[in-house]
Amino acid sequence: MADITIPAELLPADGRFGCGPSKVRPEQVAAVTGAAHLLGTSHRQKPVKALVGSVRAGLRDLFRLPDGYEVVLGNGGSTAFWDIAAAGLIERRSGHLDFGEFGSKFVASARAPWLEAPHVVKTDAGTRGTLEPVAGVDVYAYPHNETSTGVASPVTRIHGDDGALTVVDATSAAGGIDIDISETDVYYFAPQKNFAGDGGLWIALMSPAAIERAERIGASDRFIPPFLSLTAAIDNSRLDQTLNTPALATLVLLDEQVRWMNESGGLAWCGERTATSSGLLYDWAESHPLATPFVANPEHRSPVVVTIDLDDSIDAASVAATLRANGIVDTEPYRKLGRNQLRIATFVAIEPDDVRQLIRSLDYVLEQVAG
Ligand SMILES: *Cc1c(COP(=O)(O)O)cnc(C)c1O
Repeated sequence: MADITIPAELLPADGRFGCGPSKVRPEQVAAVTGAAHLLGTSHRQKPVKALVGSVRAGLRDLFRLPDGYEVVLGNGGSTAFWDIAAAGLIERRSGHLDFGEFGSKFVASARAPWLEAPHVVKTDAGTRGTLEPVAGVDVYAYPHNETSTGVASPVTRIHGDDGALTVVDATSAAGGIDIDISETDVYYFAPQKNFAGDGGLWIALMSPAAIERAERIGASDRFIPPFLSLTAAIDNSRLDQTLNTPALATLVLLDEQVRWMNESGGLAWCGERTATSSGLLYDWAESHPLATPFVANPEHRSPVVVTIDLDDSIDAASVAATLRANGIVDTEPYRKLGRNQLRIATFVAIEPDDVRQLIRSLDYVLEQVAG
């Protein structure tokens, strides 16, 4: 199968469909070149601080942040934020929706010895459960988009005990799905998905209640490893800095993408674009005799990560390898899911026309194989 050559007129102009790192637009790469004078300069001086300030202001606009919400950032990616939250955001007990790899990783961090065992609602891959209020839970956590399976969740506040926070892992959703940020207290993400940047940073949009919680725990006698200190991150972010040295090129890529999103029409425009791209793929999978959307319930289907099961008569790994040999990369499924599946990102940077071409390429490959 790997020696199938897809005719050039069926190929997408850009073949990057991975879920992170994901397609970087050429304009972003040009912005890095344009920032050549910034690279290799101190992050404590004005030019880099202005760049961080621009990222923070751009995100404030993009997400229409209500008064009092702050853009906080630090190093370590979303994975670091799980430990930061366990150290400095969860007071006694957290409640989680776990419907895939990423949701369960936060649960693992929340099993810290200084916290009570978390309340967890776990469901099979490809579905999701519902998080009901539970007395004694002070942080409710769920992924906005479970990247390992392509299941998305609505972003709504869980009204539990007074002061309970709603904390959303938006790593692969942020910037690709329109939401009302006031439904969350912490909406956190990393730049290598819809923001088309590189990995390594975490960014958290925090409500006044979340900041107050972090300050209270930070001032308590709980030991917080300095690198995981959320209050240190808040203090540094207010000065347009990070606790320790950030990757400057990542910030440039991110800044350019946020500018493009805002200029193109903001979060509503981004959401329509990913809905268009993903809709094309779901419609295709519904109608193709050898393909089926993995997520059975249309209401659970992600607009930014599309998972498509192939018929048992077709080896999906070979299809992905054939696509790769033709320049269409990273359509393999999440490594631990173990399904006969293709996983395709439809992030904002990806052109809907390239998704149309990808579908033509898929039709071609499946026709050759099933022949
Ligand atoms: C990619 C991803 C992560 C991990 O992000 P890192 O920046 O690599 O730590 C966490 N959660 C979700 C939902 C993701 O898609």
